[in-house]
Amino acid sequence: MPTYDYKCENCDHTFETLQTMSAEHLKTCPECKKESLKRLIGAGAGLLFKGSGFYQTDYRSKSYNSDKKKDKKPSENKKQS
Ligand SMILES: [Zn+2]
Repeated sequence: MPTYDYKCENCDHTFETLQTMSAEHLKTCPECKKESLKRLIGAGAGLLFKGSGFYQTDYRSKSYNSDKKKDKKPSENKKQS
């Protein structure tokens, strides 16, 4: 069962909870009882990704880094010449 991090936008209360993939997202903050919860994906990262966008971003960053290495050599050549 995956764990999900929630953060309350009203009182900044953050907590982790175990939920099934199909479970409804929590809305009500256990601290201030307001419906201000936002689900965080990525424990402790403080980053907000939505659904498949997380995986797309992860894939893109890997290919971006490898492209960066390839780009490094030509740019060094430019400086030398
Ligand atoms: Zn709250």
